[in-house]
Amino acid sequence: MKKRMGVLLIMKENSMKVMLEMSQGSKLSICQGDITKLDVDCIVNAANRSLLGGGGVDGAIHRAAGPGLLQECRTLHGCETGQAKITKGYNLKAAYVIHTVGPVYSGKPKDAELLADCYWNSLELAKEHGVRSIAFPAISTGVYGYPLKEAVPIAAETVWQWMKEHEGYAIEVILCGFDRQTCELYEEFLS
Ligand code: ADP
Repeated sequence: MKKRMGVLLIMKENSMKVMLEMSQGSKLSICQGDITKLDVDCIVNAANRSLLGGGGVDGAIHRAAGPGLLQECRTLHGCETGQAKITKGYNLKAAYVIHTVGPVYSGKPKDAELLADCYWNSLELAKEHGVRSIAFPAISTGVYGYPLKEAVPIAAETVWQWMKEHEGYAIEVILCGFDRQTCELYEEFLS
């Protein structure tokens, strides 16, 4: 990736790090920590098909956003795997939450397709709403069992591909790893 795209490695505050930059200002960054704390236009939720809340990052987002989020989610009538739906962010700093449903890992080729769809469709929806900064958790790598080493390249490649295809649209995309290992894998892959 490095040679093809011209990498700029810049240390930013705390654990936020810009990994790839485009001439018109788009950036792909990585960050370690709690996605609910990020000051971005939009955070992505690794939701389940009901969109009615759950554990992991989903639970953390609902707790931080407050009950308004669940109320709005009830009006959405669920979401298919690989698809994405948008709500407001309520008590979060983020104005929007995009809820996407990752695949439950099965080891079949379809998993990778559906996981890539989550990132791609979330970015499409973000652009429709004028989002200029968006943070993703490592979708499907918790309870849904997607091996991190397989999920990280899919996440990073898909996001970067989308950014290249929408070069005229300046956006900062942050891949947020909850733990160090996830961040290290993103960093290794993007370096
Ligand atoms: P899934 O069901 O899609 O696997 P999980 O919430 O179980 O969703 O896990 C997805 C990823 O989100 C995991 O890598 C987990 O470590 C991470 N995660 C959990 N809580 C947070 C949080 N507050 N901020 C960022 N990432 C989180």
